[in-house]
Amino acid sequence: MTLSTSSTTSLDALRAGDLAALGAAVAGPVLQPGDPGFAEEIGGFNLAYTPAAAAVVGATSTDDVAAAVRYAAAPHGLAPLSGSSSQVGVVGYTTGGGLGPMARRYGFAADHVRRFTIVTADGMVRDVSEHGQGPDADLFWAVRGGKGNFGIVTEMEFDLVPVTRFVGGALMFGADDAAAVLHAWREWAPGLPEDTTTSVALLRLPPDPALPEPVRGRFVVAVRFTHLGSAEEGAALLAPLRAVAGPVLDTSADMPYPAIDAVHMDPVDPMPMWDRGTALSALPAEAVDALLAVAGPQADVPLAMVEIRLLGGAIARRPEVPNAVASRSPEPGIRSPGSAACRPGRCGDRMSGRDQ
Ligand SMILES: Cc1cc2nc3c(=O)[nH]c(=O)nc-3n(C[C@H](O)[C@H](O)[C@H](O)COP(=O)(O)OP(=O)(O)OC[C@H]3O[C@@H](n4cnc5c(N)ncnc54)[C@H](O)[C@@H]3O)c2cc1C
Repeated sequence: MTLSTSSTTSLDALRAGDLAALGAAVAGPVLQPGDPGFAEEIGGFNLAYTPAAAAVVGATSTDDVAAAVRYAAAPHGLAPLSGSSSQVGVVGYTTGGGLGPMARRYGFAADHVRRFTIVTADGMVRDVSEHGQGPDADLFWAVRGGKGNFGIVTEMEFDLVPVTRFVGGALMFGADDAAAVLHAWREWAPGLPEDTTTSVALLRLPPDPALPEPVRGRFVVAVRFTHLGSAEEGAALLAPLRAVAGPVLDTSADMPYPAIDAVHMDPVDPMPMWDRGTALSALPAEAVDALLAVAGPQADVPLAMVEIRLLGGAIARRPEVPNAVASRSPEPGIRSPGSAACRPGRCGDRMSGRDQ
């Protein structure tokens, strides 16, 4: 079965030179009104609704969708609410909630979806949006957070956010400073403004020559952060953490939004994973000690990463049109999901599946 997804731009004017650049960035065709195939590519089942677009990309892959979104968004000062890695599938990420590096300011990606076209288990094609009634309204609620359980999404329309740049990156600390940094992060993070999103990860990095020497093959604690205010504000916010210990690597910088993947530096190639997350109602000092005991530098565990993300802010607020995303906290403080990925070949029978 072949599925194709169409990503459309609604820009009034696209210059031919720009479109050539987009064409070079995607594998599928880039078509304008009047081009052979344009009407077929943009048309859906529902003839009552034909999107207006200055161009359409006949996307053949996730990468095509990502390239088209970035292309359409960036010149207009807009950005998609991607996750720690923009390489993952946009539909699975968004329908699963989508908790990204600007989440405390803008909430979950699923909170910003306007419309889906979805094929449900009865073989029917349904257009569901905030304007739907009855079962369609329920379906629109469920798909935003309920992942792939309600059908196959063939189109998705979502809002972009007005972001062109951020100050962010990772402060990486050595194993000797793990306890001090983790305890400091626990006290520091809840006081941050909503324009700042952060997580702290215990990483067991492979001896990959592509990694910078100070962290290659080492255990490190990575404090990831993004701040949507000025570089000076970002530096001031980070100062208390820098005072705790000297990082072995500091990648923080003022960056354009398309560089957002540099914050988490997730692997870009597909890999075996075992991934679980949970929400915490609080993160007391005892919990940090317990985490260090089982996943800290002295522990013998096969986990490549254990991460605690700071929630609160917009993550805790229900969107205007409610959805099925769970783990919202009414409090601005910490409710922290953790996630873990196994080092290849070290998870044994626990790697029978991947929890998305
Ligand atoms: C490196 C990495 C970093 C990540 N970072 C984050 C993060 O920061 N925040 C976060 O929230 N998540 C994050 N995730 C989780 C990620 O959002 C999910 O794993 C997502 O489903 C990614 O999809 P995929 O490309 O791995 O697989 P896909 O093949 O795209 O799909 C995975 C699942 O999504 C569902 N799905 C996909 N396409 C459709 C469709 N068209 N219709 C219906 N259901 C569909 C299905 O259930 C499918 O089994 C990360 C994952 C990885 C591997």
